[in-house]
Amino acid sequence: MSRAFHQSDLGPRGRIIGHDPADIAAAAACLQAGDLVGMPTETVYGLAADATNGEAVAAIYEAKGRPAFNPLICHVADLAEAERHGLFNAEALRLAEAFWPGPLTIVAPFRPGSAVSDLARAGLDSIALRVPAHPVARALIAAAGRPLAAPSANLSGRISPTAAGDVARDLGERVACIIDAGVCDIGLESTIVSCLAHPVAMLRPGGVPRESLEALLGAALGSTTRDILPRSPGLLQSHYAPFAPVRINVTEFQPSDSILAFGNIKKPTFIDEASFVNLSPNSNLRQAASRLFTSLRVLDARQPAAIAVAPIPSTGLGEAINDRLVRAAAPRS
Ligand code: AMP
Ligand code: MG
Repeated sequence: MSRAFHQSDLGPRGRIIGHDPADIAAAAACLQAGDLVGMPTETVYGLAADATNGEAVAAIYEAKGRPAFNPLICHVADLAEAERHGLFNAEALRLAEAFWPGPLTIVAPFRPGSAVSDLARAGLDSIALRVPAHPVARALIAAAGRPLAAPSANLSGRISPTAAGDVARDLGERVACIIDAGVCDIGLESTIVSCLAHPVAMLRPGGVPRESLEALLGAALGSTTRDILPRSPGLLQSHYAPFAPVRINVTEFQPSDSILAFGNIKKPTFIDEASFVNLSPNSNLRQAASRLFTSLRVLDARQPAAIAVAPIPSTGLGEAINDRLVRAAAPRS
């Protein structure tokens, strides 16, 4: 009988490991346990986590030191798996069939019922999906048996890593292990296209050239406009905002509020159970991040007069949480 996997089987955290089947199995076990893994792909090295585990995804933002949540690309085994998480229209299907596996990321409407966490999508109702071509990435996705959320494995603001050593320098202690498969072939991020509207639009140039996409589609790619094709969450204020007005850093609650609490804040007696959510009773910012978008949506669905948010510290992941809350509370146009 095989015994449970332990991090110690891999040696110290952040160790660079090979890519034989035993290494892949060990790294997959780390992912299944909610830990982070440095993953080689044909574009750049990714910082991978189980996309269905909100706390594991929160650990990505924490490790990268991103001051805001932006949606992450979910890496899947094949088109059939991608269609379990996104709704592919005819253009999306043609693109996927022509360019997958490969350096093309397709943004599609999120399929309700998919287990991919809200946080991996930064709360959007769309999802970015890619089937990588790199055999080691493919083996890792297969062994983990779940979609892997993975931004580039560098600290926020630093250059994307194209070798295992780059990942170790930026994120060594933050990852369970780094799979070394040599230098990335392409060394440039994937091209991102949005199939949320017609025509298909390019959100980011990358490994698949525009000309190849336009030749396949027989049409020019649309340009990115703020209304339909949010490129970064900085442009997403209205898309993000709950219907209810949001007040932040609230310490005195009103009877008409729905409350988003944190830490040792107790439910006031004049608030009913369904109008009170505590993001993390024991003040764990990773747990709070993983619950943030879902909780806002749950409270908003009750159509309260207002959503009142308790103070959340701005340290670590708290910076991104507060960035999101400040946007939600910003005056509406
Ligand atoms: P990175 O993971 O660092 O390669 O960056 C991922 C890119 O994908 C970012 O530019 C995101 O804004 C973009 N992206 C991911 N998901 C979506 C989405 N649902 N809608 C629009 N852009 C997305
Ligand atoms: Mg990046």
